[in-house]
Amino acid sequence: MFSSPAEVATQITIGHHLNGRARVPDASRSQPVFNPATGAVTGHVALGSEADVAAAVAAAQAAFPAWADTPPLRRARVMFKFLELLNQNKDQLAHLITAEHGKVFTDAQGEVSRGIDIVEFACGIPQLLKGDFTDQVSTGLDNWTLRQPLGVVAGITPFNFPVMVPMWMFPVAIAAGNTFVLKPSPIDPSASLFMAELLRQAGLPDGVFNVVQGDKEAVDALLVHPDVKAVSFVGSTPIANYIYETGAHHGKRVQALGGAKNHMVVMPDADLEQAVDGLIGAAYGSAGERCMAISVAVLVGDVADRLIPMLQARAKTLVIKNGIELDAEMGPIVTAAAHQRITGYIEQGVKEGATLLVDGRGHTVKGHEEGFWMGGTLFDHVTPDMRIYKEEIFGPVLGCVRVKDFAEAVELVNAHEFGNGVSCYTRDGHVAREFSRRIQVGMVGINVPIPVPMAWHGFGGWKKSLFGDMHAYGEEGVRFYTKQKSIMQRWPESIGKGAEFVMPTAK
Ligand code: NAD
Repeated sequence: MFSSPAEVATQITIGHHLNGRARVPDASRSQPVFNPATGAVTGHVALGSEADVAAAVAAAQAAFPAWADTPPLRRARVMFKFLELLNQNKDQLAHLITAEHGKVFTDAQGEVSRGIDIVEFACGIPQLLKGDFTDQVSTGLDNWTLRQPLGVVAGITPFNFPVMVPMWMFPVAIAAGNTFVLKPSPIDPSASLFMAELLRQAGLPDGVFNVVQGDKEAVDALLVHPDVKAVSFVGSTPIANYIYETGAHHGKRVQALGGAKNHMVVMPDADLEQAVDGLIGAAYGSAGERCMAISVAVLVGDVADRLIPMLQARAKTLVIKNGIELDAEMGPIVTAAAHQRITGYIEQGVKEGATLLVDGRGHTVKGHEEGFWMGGTLFDHVTPDMRIYKEEIFGPVLGCVRVKDFAEAVELVNAHEFGNGVSCYTRDGHVAREFSRRIQVGMVGINVPIPVPMAWHGFGGWKKSLFGDMHAYGEEGVRFYTKQKSIMQRWPESIGKGAEFVMPTAK
């Protein structure tokens, strides 16, 4: 049964943040927000309209000239204050993440910390914006470059990191002098409003940071809005592709980070205890709902027969419970729909002939029977032609592929259409070096299962894991959110020598 607009309005508990203020729209589409551990509806989030997006962009556009003109050092001071508030409110943010996403609280704390890293990086913006200067490029002529902000920029973010992924974007964008409109995932929208409030308390002028909750309608409005100069997107590959093409078609800079299928290659000489620890954490941490999760173990030579019994034992004994309980290792799946999709992939894997060693279907947690639970799932004898190998499952499902040697492992990884993260466990330095150089993947770990780069290095995959030229955050992020201007300057004594019709050259 459909609710009338008036009824819908009274249900909405999670609204937008426009021009420095929380806004709960009078009448709007909305969708329920769940606690995935209990299955309970905990709120209703507004789904922004074209008019809501127009209001947010107008606020951001109005705030832009003064903010862009504010000295970088003063913008950095707002970031320092925001950093202080984030550190004070770290656990509150982590609670919000666990309540709407389901990931375990300690993991949510880790997410907030990795977001804070980017804010710390953005605090260095005066240094990062420093231009280049060449004295005397020709007699009496100097040339320098500087970087200026773009204007209003937008961020469209996924459900799986409701704090960290927006923080890959807005601290750098804002510190560089842009104004920002965030369109978070409607699945876990509350953290975005909390961050907006902390930015307000930090002294950020109204309109510099805005949040429009919503779905495709709000995204499409951002993609065609003439005042939005750049779009940063993180989410699944089909939507990333759509955002890239549509945004570019409308004249915007776009960086669109997509899905993944990350492999961990385990060489016969690897420390098996360490490899199993790495695989278990990276495959089942955050219920496999990380773009850097390992979903394929590539087992080289005879390593499979030694490693698989260890993996199987560990996958069966994962501590799965409400993420708010501190001993939980894995929480629920984010939504009932995601649960159904992952279940479908497990059925598909069995049909395709992979060996199901640990079956997570039907897992329940006492006292939370309505939650979206699933156990860790482990397949052996996965082959490259299977859908469970080719497609991103985005759940706690690990597939093992057996290969004869290192060359076959590298070939397998390089042939996959995704290229986000990859890992290799070995004790051989030469193998490690060759792996790092030959692998066609953007982020590489050697005896590191989830090699998410630090704030000053930048994050980005290759192939279908990233559309666009620039990685997120780091110096690439600064470049993405600024445009270079080159200035040549000559002073009076050179004036009055008559027009020059030949291409200027050094004199
Ligand atoms: P998603 O693609 O469904 O949604 C991402 C964003 O796009 C959300 O804000 C959503 O509201 C919006 N959106 C969804 N459908 C849309 C449509 N048809 N038109 C316009 N906008 C639309 O992704 P998700 O399920 O929220 O997140 C999981 C995905 O994100 C996985 O594929 C994961 O690999 C990927 N991810 C990638 C990275 C990375 O850095 N490469 C990081 C995190 C997550």
